[in-house]
Amino acid sequence: MDTQRFSYNKQSIQEAAQLLRSGELVAFPTETVYGLGARVFDESAVRRIFVAKGRPSDNPLIVHCAEKADLMRVSEPLPSNRKQLFDALYEAFCPGALTVLLPKHSSVPNVVTAGLNTVAIRFPAHPIAQALIRAAGEPLVAPSANRSGYPSPTTAQHVLHDLSGRIAAVIDGGACAVGIESTVVNILTESLTILRPGSITKEQLDKTALEQGFQPFVYASGKESGENNAAPLSPGMKYRHYAPNATVLLASSLEEASLLATTNSPALILARPEYADGATVHELSEQSLYGALRKADSEGFQTVILVCDSEVQNNIALMNRISKAASEQ
Ligand code: AMP
Ligand code: MG
Repeated sequence: MDTQRFSYNKQSIQEAAQLLRSGELVAFPTETVYGLGARVFDESAVRRIFVAKGRPSDNPLIVHCAEKADLMRVSEPLPSNRKQLFDALYEAFCPGALTVLLPKHSSVPNVVTAGLNTVAIRFPAHPIAQALIRAAGEPLVAPSANRSGYPSPTTAQHVLHDLSGRIAAVIDGGACAVGIESTVVNILTESLTILRPGSITKEQLDKTALEQGFQPFVYASGKESGENNAAPLSPGMKYRHYAPNATVLLASSLEEASLLATTNSPALILARPEYADGATVHELSEQSLYGALRKADSEGFQTVILVCDSEVQNNIALMNRISKAASEQ
């Protein structure tokens, strides 16, 4: 299959929606990372997403909606004591990089939720994502449009690198503004939990929770990285993720990174933007992490050294992705 690359205009959205309606897979930009879309009610297309990505079938997909009214089609009503909280979170963060678990509607195929009775919902803010969902006529499942385990794609080029020949098309919307995946929360449990940290922070979420009379959110695993949970609540968190072929090493300072680089050459060093010199040290930020990890592979570096000083360590979402990229599993 030849993968088409569309630029963004009215006609390409209609063509892409037509491909989705005929059961094909189309990748598209969102503000977090590029997603690989299929119509949520097209069970065989959803199954092919797992094949195209090499994604384990017990890792559920996020359903992307364009309007609040779409919720009726994919979720059951929330218990009354959680409805107000959901509405407040929706008001504060949607559309945007927040994914919320809701009770699953029986018409959503089980393959979407890996058999769980909850369905993960997000309202992407990106105009191309919204236009495509509307044109397709139903919500779209859209995991990150990469081969499973490899860093998520933040450009159309990254999508083509991983999935060319495996999907019908990608819509090129340039680089993603956020660069890491959405924050995933569960508000159905006794304590409100963060299943995956993301660019919407615990502090932001807690403000809304407290205003609605709830206790602050807790990180699901008890460990901020969301790792090493015996029974992960968010099934995807147990898998190897975000890892380039190059070996990923962590350093606590630029000096330590330079030392490591001498014994692990050729090495690409990533550090906070203030330290980037465009030559040996490249930028480390939410926006640039995945592109930089991919660059290490495409430019033949054996090692990537990430400088995780205290400021980087304070960014829980970024550290979550870095720890996984560096993990051996
Ligand atoms: P991805 O779309 O590849 O960025 O991954 C989606 C994330 O959402 C994974 O970590 C999934 O395990 C998680 N997820 C999706 N649906 C559910 C659900 N119903 N319950 C818990 N976690 C979910
Ligand atoms: Mg992913």
